[in-house]
Amino acid sequence: MPTNPPATVNRCGYCGASSYHRVVARDEAGAMRYTSTLQCTGCGREFTDLQDWRQGGQAAQSAAAAP
Ligand SMILES: [Zn+2]
Repeated sequence: MPTNPPATVNRCGYCGASSYHRVVARDEAGAMRYTSTLQCTGCGREFTDLQDWRQGGQAAQSAAAAP
């Protein structure tokens, strides 16, 4: 029995880094807030959500290129 089934894999689809951080941006009021954007700690790429990070951004690309 595998100890790490694919469903629980949590790493970057580009570089394989196992962590990311949430991007912080200044809002209209000038306050620093966490956004919904994720940034990989390994390659520094930004992703719209966790699934996107895991798949290396291929989700959006494959959707656009789907027949
Ligand atoms: Zn990465």
